[in-house]
Amino acid sequence: MPDEAASALARNDPEVAAIVAAERARQTETLEIIASENYASAAVLEATGSVFTNKYAEGYPGRRYYAGNEHADAVESLAIARAKALFGAEHANVQPTSGAEANMAAYLAFAEPGDTILGLELTQGGHLTHGSPVNFSGRLYDFVPYSVDRETEVVDMARVAELAAEARPRVIVTGATAYPRRFDFAAFAEIARAVGALLLVDMSHFAGLVAGGAHPSPVPHADVVTSTTHKTLRGPRGAFAMTTAEHAAALDKAVFPGTQGGPHLHSIAAKAVAFGEALRPEFRDYAARVTANAAALAEALMERGLRLVSGGTDTHLALIDCGALGISGLKAQNALQGSGIIANKNTIPYDERSPFVTSGLRIGTPALTSRGMGEAEMGRLADWIARVLRDPDGEGVREGVRREVAAFARQWPVPGLSDA
Ligand SMILES: *Cc1c(COP(=O)(O)O)cnc(C)c1O
Repeated sequence: MPDEAASALARNDPEVAAIVAAERARQTETLEIIASENYASAAVLEATGSVFTNKYAEGYPGRRYYAGNEHADAVESLAIARAKALFGAEHANVQPTSGAEANMAAYLAFAEPGDTILGLELTQGGHLTHGSPVNFSGRLYDFVPYSVDRETEVVDMARVAELAAEARPRVIVTGATAYPRRFDFAAFAEIARAVGALLLVDMSHFAGLVAGGAHPSPVPHADVVTSTTHKTLRGPRGAFAMTTAEHAAALDKAVFPGTQGGPHLHSIAAKAVAFGEALRPEFRDYAARVTANAAALAEALMERGLRLVSGGTDTHLALIDCGALGISGLKAQNALQGSGIIANKNTIPYDERSPFVTSGLRIGTPALTSRGMGEAEMGRLADWIARVLRDPDGEGVREGVRREVAAFARQWPVPGLSDA
């Protein structure tokens, strides 16, 4: 990366440059365990900051509403080809600018306002765009929530089948933001087929694990798959969607002109880079290490007496039941932040606290694994987390952990910030 002092940004706008430099230092000196975050490579960051920022390209490769798009066509076609190769999909659309917009396009393509859609209960891990009343999804569609079993805290497929038979939804959506287990895509597909619904899998969280072969793929089972590119996939902020050939035209029309204007070509160029990186053998190794680290972290936390939702994880994330320690998720989040460990509060199944306070803490290993950490480091991390959560008001503990964390974090280069 260019020296900050010599950069155009520093010369042009020292105020913004100083804020960016402070964020760079924060990302280097803390331990990032927010399950939806990651570090993009230097190549992804460079493509994101490229001259494609300047170009309008409404339409699709070969069918644009503007002139001068020969290179835009090349980069978008490359991103599409790589996404299809990576996931074995018949069709890909790489224009959605965010996961929320990819889902909006998917609903627009396959349901009418007022139609019934089945989605995972939001307080049990579902996403805002899976039917929250404050989101467009909950306002435009009639969402019926399915839930996890109280005992196992795993999705109750028998109940999903019952609800589907009663509600006769147009679409069944699965995938989540805070669910530590794998979804049974084949079982969801069977239920969807039985009631004449389409199956939409939102793999935003675990797309990188699918790409790297560390998680089953929803692509052979789903009619539509949506995903972000910036979580486990390590790409730029953005999203994409895939369908069978049968639904390709409907999806494309729903993305543009249905929900978006000009595509973000700089981001599409960076998506092409990220898909290319994920196609390399090293990415399989990365995905395997993400899940191995999550399993090791979960095991180490449970050995220290913490309760995890569903008793562990088989993905990149886990949920700590802070209520079992007598504290809220909010308190846990703040105490850890004071120690340089960045996680987020989250509701847990059948939570008695409000969504702002919560009883849970969501943790994940994608970002630390990108820094090269392994299972031994997960043991140290579990130690720090357990110490802080058992004494969240203890300033001595917090300060001690903060010093240890800062010294430790500096030993692990951050990809993209140190040319890694
Ligand atoms: C992160 C996420 C989204 C939204 O992605 P944004 O890019 O933040 O809009 C949608 N669905 C799921 C399941 C997610 O985890």
